[in-house]
Amino acid sequence: MSIVKTDAITLGRTDYSDSSQIIIFYTRDYGKIHTIAKGFKRTSGKYNSKAIDLLTHYRILFIKKEHSTLHTLTDAVLQNNYPLFRNDLDKYFKASYVAELVNEFTEKNDPNELLFDLFLNTLNHIAAGTNTIIWLLAFELKMLNILGYLPEWERCICCKKRIQHQGRVSFNAVEGGARCVKCNGELKDGVVVSAGTMLIAGRLSNLNFQRLERVRVQLSICVEIEKVLRYYIISVLKKELNSWKYVTFST
Ligand SMILES: [Zn+2]
Repeated sequence: MSIVKTDAITLGRTDYSDSSQIIIFYTRDYGKIHTIAKGFKRTSGKYNSKAIDLLTHYRILFIKKEHSTLHTLTDAVLQNNYPLFRNDLDKYFKASYVAELVNEFTEKNDPNELLFDLFLNTLNHIAAGTNTIIWLLAFELKMLNILGYLPEWERCICCKKRIQHQGRVSFNAVEGGARCVKCNGELKDGVVVSAGTMLIAGRLSNLNFQRLERVRVQLSICVEIEKVLRYYIISVLKKELNSWKYVTFST
């Protein structure tokens, strides 16, 4: 048992008793952790300066248990509560989707500093930026890459030749990529997608944040990339995500 300090972003919370909650954080140094937070709950009509908000960046102090996955939160110092998320539903839903992805794709107590920094950077850009669709797609692609799930976007998974810009290809989640026009004869299921879209998704997964600032992609291509990603995510997680009902690419 030791007291440790780390940067953390709130992923979720549930009531535990009249005065305490279970708070799920994604932290820089300890990955996803579940903590019990006594005295942090905001009860109706009573202001509680210690209350923990969702989608918020804190520097937390917690008692790390060696033989339990439920740690004890002792302090949380606010770093950024992203006020823009409270005033803009579109930004709020996109940020919630990013948090849901992190929650679903990570195991407890499995740190990944790259993923934490990607998560924090993406929240900052969704809050402050205008090109939020690109940030969201880039987050999905980069997260899959960091966690070792990124499918093959630029080469045919069968003949290994670079996919040509023209025409349509068949993306198969189980095979982890697309077959070119010549090789898709045996394909039993999957989604048909334009070859150009596959190449743009591959490029987005590799671009750094500075270059993403300047990227412009047609909405119809963004919609197609997201269609492939959702189909692929269902195949990995074996379920749909709640945020998909709220995150639309029409704006
Ligand atoms: Zn091929």
